Amino acid sequence: MAAIRELSMMAKYPFLPEARGELAKYGITLESFSDPAYRRVVERAKRRILDAIEYGDDVNPSSISDDDFVELASFPLSVAMIAAIGDKRLARRFALATSSLVIKLLESENPEWRDEMVLRIARDFFGMDVRRDSRIVSGIAYDYSLGLKDYLRGALAFNKPEWKLVNRVVERGRVLVTAHELIRLLKDRVMEHILSLVEKAGKVGALPSPVEEAIREIKERMPTAIQLELTTVKSGPETWPPCMRTIADRLMAGENISHFANFAFAAFLSNIGFEPHEIIRFYANRPDFKERIAKYQVEHIAGLRGSRTKYMTPSCSTMKTNGLCIKDGALCGGIRNPLAYYRRATKKIGKIDKNKAEVGGERGEAGGEVIGDSGPNGDTPSDQQISGNPR
Ligand code: SF4
Repeated sequence: MAAIRELSMMAKYPFLPEARGELAKYGITLESFSDPAYRRVVERAKRRILDAIEYGDDVNPSSISDDDFVELASFPLSVAMIAAIGDKRLARRFALATSSLVIKLLESENPEWRDEMVLRIARDFFGMDVRRDSRIVSGIAYDYSLGLKDYLRGALAFNKPEWKLVNRVVERGRVLVTAHELIRLLKDRVMEHILSLVEKAGKVGALPSPVEEAIREIKERMPTAIQLELTTVKSGPETWPPCMRTIADRLMAGENISHFANFAFAAFLSNIGFEPHEIIRFYANRPDFKERIAKYQVEHIAGLRGSRTKYMTPSCSTMKTNGLCIKDGALCGGIRNPLAYYRRATKKIGKIDKNKAEVGGERGEAGGEVIGDSGPNGDTPSDQQISGNPR
């Protein structure tokens, strides 16, 4: 397929190589943005980032500039600004908002253009195995067929039953999809690509003062990251199994994790006595965090809504099936449920604390003064818990 040639299309999909090629013709460098002639480009780059902060997934295409050049040039500048700010959580939020904007624009194209662009992005740019395949099966009008591998790579992340392979029309290793479904699958690819662009931009050197000024304003509008003091949250994470600690670390870093991982972690916290508002705090760094939805879901898991049944923490074998077990359980001493790790660890801490209190009492010392001492086996409490096998 021929590359897109129209400036208006490149302006809408500025992550494509032809858009970069078009921009190169203008000979613009970062230094160029010190020129007041490019003020609108800097403003639009700033707006792209502020929209991501304010709206995330709900970003509205109405903020797009009516000047194609401004739209085209502001995209790489916004990527450079994100790289210069160096906040991973902001980078994810920006990638989410940008990919969301791309799919909204694709959805709004007239069907002919949409088909052209969808194939250009899916097949030519991301190398997906996509073919046009227009037909109606069981009352559903399909537009494309997708190779099984590409289908599964995207669809496995979705929870809704209609994405499950058993509910799909599969013929000779190809899955039929509607245009809307293919565009949804593209969203995650675009998001990954934008993140890779930020990563490639790496360390950005000195920036022209209008860009620095825009960055200052963005930083002022950035919400403060939720940095939970993991050592001070109740039932400290040193008592949590490696799988749950890993999920917690990834959430704190603002990474998107699978639906199942979200569920398993919330169910685990709920089962060890965390209240819904305490659980929600862990999710606040996600790029697509929406408090109302998170509250509803967590309350559901905690048995405060719907059937009023509190969900159990998934078993270790289910965690393994979902790729969430760490080192195939080697750190956990043959347990069957993550809760068993927690119970053993808290029991062990109780014993260690008791021993320390007794030693301190005999010496006439406060318990806190012996906290750095070795435990009964010559290792520290935290060594014992982190290296596993709490009994
Ligand atoms: S064995 Fe169980 S508790 Fe330990 S990491 Fe695997 S899933 Fe988690």
